Amino acid sequence: MAGFNAGLNFARSYYVATAAPAPARPALEGLVKADLVVVGAGCTGLAAALYAAKAGRSVVVLEAGRVGWGASGRNGGQMIPGLRKGAVELVKMLGVERARALFDLSIEARNLVVGLVKDHGIDCDLSLTGHLLGALKPRDMAAFEAEVRCLNEVMAYPHAHVLNAADALAAVATPEFCGALVDDLGGHMHPLNYTLGLARLAESQGVRICEMSRAVTLDRHAGGVRVGVEDGAAVEASHAVLAGDALLTGLSSRVNRRIMPVANYIVATEPLPDPQSLISAGRAVSDSRFVVDYFRMTRDGRLLFGGGERYTPDPPADIGAFVRPYLERAFPQLRGVRFDHAWGGMVSVTFSRLPHMGRDGPVLFAHGYSGQGVLLSTLGGKLMADALDGDAAPLEQFAQVEPAAFPGGDVLRWPLYVLGMLWYAMRDRL
Ligand SMILES: Cc1cc2nc3c(=O)[nH]c(=O)nc-3n(C[C@H](O)[C@H](O)[C@H](O)COP(=O)(O)OP(=O)(O)OC[C@H]3O[C@@H](n4cnc5c(N)ncnc54)[C@H](O)[C@@H]3O)c2cc1C
Repeated sequence: MAGFNAGLNFARSYYVATAAPAPARPALEGLVKADLVVVGAGCTGLAAALYAAKAGRSVVVLEAGRVGWGASGRNGGQMIPGLRKGAVELVKMLGVERARALFDLSIEARNLVVGLVKDHGIDCDLSLTGHLLGALKPRDMAAFEAEVRCLNEVMAYPHAHVLNAADALAAVATPEFCGALVDDLGGHMHPLNYTLGLARLAESQGVRICEMSRAVTLDRHAGGVRVGVEDGAAVEASHAVLAGDALLTGLSSRVNRRIMPVANYIVATEPLPDPQSLISAGRAVSDSRFVVDYFRMTRDGRLLFGGGERYTPDPPADIGAFVRPYLERAFPQLRGVRFDHAWGGMVSVTFSRLPHMGRDGPVLFAHGYSGQGVLLSTLGGKLMADALDGDAAPLEQFAQVEPAAFPGGDVLRWPLYVLGMLWYAMRDRL
């Protein structure tokens, strides 16, 4: 696949090696009319398509590559309830009422995904074992305690609790954590198989998905929109959904300037003899660094570990060698372990770490989940479909907190952002 995703070795990822069979879908040809055209077949686009079709709309999805080959099919699979901005910060920023509304929506995202998997029997290794956020410094524990208090008392969310150092060590065999925050409603799954399941569901509702169909033009006219693909074929529709996330270029400067694509890398080890000795309760785990390490076990006993970001679009020559020091820092007992898979993907980050969702006339958009899109992307898609169906209030809750555009326009935002992120990464190290 061309563009940002090129060279990230996805074809040799653990997910592709263990993917459910997926048919190749023919590219768009000629001029097609529909009620809704969706750009992007990740979870955002597929959920928008699914729910719009359920409401009776004819829907065409245009996908530049293959279904699920964006972030949706290649991520860490960590299901982390909430938003990337914690409850305490959210309340400080927005006040109790609006913070609570956004937080409730994020929990709806979790229940939506779990409900889809269970109701439709999507085979995606769903593991509702919880999410553990490890504290690296004593001051993180003070913040975790305040966070749990806020979750319990302000958000009326009783599912999070703190672990002391001994319990954290019993939960995760790393010397790094001095405590942890556990959310019992978290977990993990096989994200590519979930995405492929969502595509099948959407198709069962009559959605047409066109692969190898990159949208290159978006024109508005009195009756709606016309989205053209590279070879001249096009879809005319009343509405368009932009769901290209970190991989979207062109089409809408307002949308593109609000996210920054950041490359992130994952390895899957060989199957380990005693997986439970690393993560006893099988939770999804991440840590309190700004540049997060995250890991979990797979169904077949591998450690799937993500760590290290690069702020330039060129991938490291050897992704495994790039991730290894981060993995061995967390688990010195795995020094020299064999990696069977190593790949990368592009995460979209917003200035505020809140997703960017909203509407601009006939064009709706949802993206920028800032590393927490496994749950939020399905919700983002559904909220856009709901808005088309007259229930615009939930999408509007997010639209009201539109993240600032990155300064520098489409070209200069890169170097400015790199400087900012490097500063944060330095803070982790100090
Ligand atoms: C390496 C990595 C690890 C991550 N780990 C986690 C995690 O553990 N937990 C978590 O919650 N989140 C995680 N995330 C984030 C999460 O994966 C994303 O937020 C989420 O998948 C975004 O879904 P999406 O559907 O919006 O975008 P995508 O899945 O990226 O889908 C966008 C699609 O649009 C297509 N597209 C783009 N432009 C065009 C165009 N012009 N025409 C047609 N198609 C186009 C792309 O090809 C792509 O298939 C991770 C992301 C990465 C990359």
